Amino acid sequence: MTDYSTSMRTDRCGDLRIDDVGRQVTLCGWVDRRREHGEHLAFVDLRDRSGVIQVVVDGAHDLRSEYVLQVTGDVRERPDESANDNLATGAVEVEATEVVVLATAEPPPFPLDERTEVDEVLRLRHRYVDLRRPRMQRNLEVRARVTAAIRGAMEEQGFVEVETPMLVASTPEGARDFVVPSRKEPGSFYALPQSPQIFKQLTMMGGVDRYYQIARCLRDEDLRADRQFEFMQLDVEASFVTGEDVRTFVAHAVGAAAEAVTGDHPGEIRSMSWREAMDRFGSDKPDVRFGLELVDATEIFADTGFRAFQTPCVKGIRVPDGADISRNRLDELTGECKRWGAKGLVWMRLTEDGLNSPVAKFLSDDEQAGLVAKFEARVGDLLLLVADEWSTACHVCGLLRLELGRPPITEGGRHFVWVTDFPLFEGFDEAGNPIPAHHPFTMPHEEDLGMLGGDDQLAIRSLAYDLVLNGWELGSGSVRIHRREVQEQVLAALGISPDEARARFGFLLDAFRYGSPPHAGFAVGLDRLTAVLAGEENIREVIAFPKTQSGADPLTGAPTPIDDRHLAELGLGVLPPPG
Ligand code: ASP
Repeated sequence: MTDYSTSMRTDRCGDLRIDDVGRQVTLCGWVDRRREHGEHLAFVDLRDRSGVIQVVVDGAHDLRSEYVLQVTGDVRERPDESANDNLATGAVEVEATEVVVLATAEPPPFPLDERTEVDEVLRLRHRYVDLRRPRMQRNLEVRARVTAAIRGAMEEQGFVEVETPMLVASTPEGARDFVVPSRKEPGSFYALPQSPQIFKQLTMMGGVDRYYQIARCLRDEDLRADRQFEFMQLDVEASFVTGEDVRTFVAHAVGAAAEAVTGDHPGEIRSMSWREAMDRFGSDKPDVRFGLELVDATEIFADTGFRAFQTPCVKGIRVPDGADISRNRLDELTGECKRWGAKGLVWMRLTEDGLNSPVAKFLSDDEQAGLVAKFEARVGDLLLLVADEWSTACHVCGLLRLELGRPPITEGGRHFVWVTDFPLFEGFDEAGNPIPAHHPFTMPHEEDLGMLGGDDQLAIRSLAYDLVLNGWELGSGSVRIHRREVQEQVLAALGISPDEARARFGFLLDAFRYGSPPHAGFAVGLDRLTAVLAGEENIREVIAFPKTQSGADPLTGAPTPIDDRHLAELGLGVLPPPG
């Protein structure tokens, strides 16, 4: 048990129990609530990080919400009728003999009870008040426990924590950089690291063998419930390992974090290939907490006369008992599917008299029977089908599946999945160059190396893997390229000329020349992991001082303009807003 006594207090408010009856204590905290009790007495709930305790004080004291007090008094048992079973300290109260007001307070900008929904900007503007709420205190503790467990697990596995710089040259994680102007070299800029990627690879070349860092990363991307400009990750890299070794290290750390918070170890983490994840869940972040898995009906329509199904792929989901979903809702879903990139959505209800659907008349009896058998459909079910290229059909059905079945992130337990064998490239940019699915340092499958620069580059597999938790991408990693010629080949396939490659990554290419060990690594998003473990849907709830959705900090006012003198010193001028 930690001893929380200090020169100013003997105990914490939330720690007092029936065993403490008869003791004289001194407590410090905030006035949570005050209720008058008869003419001369008042009940004051005193709050600190550990919880609240009822204090009986002389009613003449002027004690208002959020005043900061030091209270000395005797712990006594509450009379039966006033005991409060919902409160950990509910069997006792403190009869104050001395009350010192350490600080007065204006009325708080919003009520601190957990039931009131408070506007986010208001909460963040007064985050120091918001953080006093038990939920926020608990979340910060969960976060600290996650980090501590992870450090412990990494140290146990022989990893060495190495800090990498914040002022760097641009890092190619594919997002926009935050840049910092250089005063010494006006017109030149540092980037803030999108990740320590290149530096951690360089530590491998430096013989560190097993590196980790609880690293801050910055990416200038639109914010969402699971994304902030700055975020923390457990960053890992190791030499002389395979991807599987790295997954074992990471699983150990993540398992320790989950156990430290929930008491349960998540057990072995299942793996599936990217291809399987797309085929069965229509997503590279499969949420395996619920069914509605995708069914492939392509073969049934191999010789179909129905034009809309004469496509490379027909996929669908069966919604059990979904036949009563209204026509309006089906029209809405069709609209969604079109927005997601499909040409349309075919729906079918299975009734006592067979398939009921606007397209049933175009399908042969065999096709209809084939569908019912393939989807194992029962009367009352709804089938939803998308016909397209394989990737579009999977993607759209995957989104439909989430729309119709996804529980909130915090429900249905915690299901971790490794997704392996990602494709090396995820598409092409405007100039026709392939876009790395992970980053340009990812090792292609040895067997697919010959396909680099060829016609079928999207089919090249990589040695990249992701960790997914309840449908959230928790992190990514890969086996890295450690040979200069392969790295040059990949950079060339990305459309990066040798000159540009030298300018941007010359230091890495040089490092390959001096003896680079085979290495692989990973990074786990700690904000997301903490949010799920804390039962929060939004990572802002587990970050002490987050930004709003629009990227602002209502507390400090950041971002703010800087004055002309400062601009001049940096060799900068500000253009008027466009338009
Ligand atoms: N640098 C990668 C990222 O931040 C992770 C990795 O490949 O280790 O996503």
